[in-house]
Amino acid sequence: MSELTDLYAQIMVCKKCALAQGRTNAVPGEGPEDAQIMFIGEAPGFHENRLGRPFVGAAGKFLEELLASINMRREDVYICNVIKCRPPNNRDPLPSEIEACRPYLDRQIELIKPRLIVTLGRYSMAKFMPKASISKVHGVPSKIGDLVVLPLFHPAAALHQPKYRADIEHDILKIPQILTQMDEVVEARPDQHAEQLSLF
Ligand code: URA
Ligand code: SF4
Repeated sequence: MSELTDLYAQIMVCKKCALAQGRTNAVPGEGPEDAQIMFIGEAPGFHENRLGRPFVGAAGKFLEELLASINMRREDVYICNVIKCRPPNNRDPLPSEIEACRPYLDRQIELIKPRLIVTLGRYSMAKFMPKASISKVHGVPSKIGDLVVLPLFHPAAALHQPKYRADIEHDILKIPQILTQMDEVVEARPDQHAEQLSLF
């Protein structure tokens, strides 16, 4: 068993917070272990809880459309959430739940080592930029330690509000540019990883 599948097995039976009681399935995340891009959403919703897979409802369909606009499929990227079990009635996650679940996401980042992390919504952004306001920083890549993070609005929010929808459709187009820019830096300085250079 790979370390990632071992981690999934731990998440499936986790009881570290009260969300364990209401779940049908925990939703660890999915995607290739060597994915270059990791998308991090908020928490499973109704359909995700039922199927044990991330972003399989309306927000997921929209995420797939966004990926198609940059010639990617969901199978090409890693997709997970800050919280692995569904909060009752899709309420916002509590700070204590985020804290209890944090080691799983941290380990996923360590194991996948994505070149680019794309946060979807406020809770995911706050993991990396606790003080930032999403309306100001959406679509702007930042270097956070040795990670490169691109914050986007949440696709579910964008589905309900046309203004966010235009933003997320525009912001997602930056992903290929960011990856190309990182490649160029690596070519110019092959001794270093782009993530270690001041890119942005
Ligand atoms: N589905 C998920 O898996 N996560 C979200 O944040 C929203 C829908
Ligand atoms: Fe465990 Fe996270 Fe589920 Fe809470 S939300 S029970 S910490 S996997």
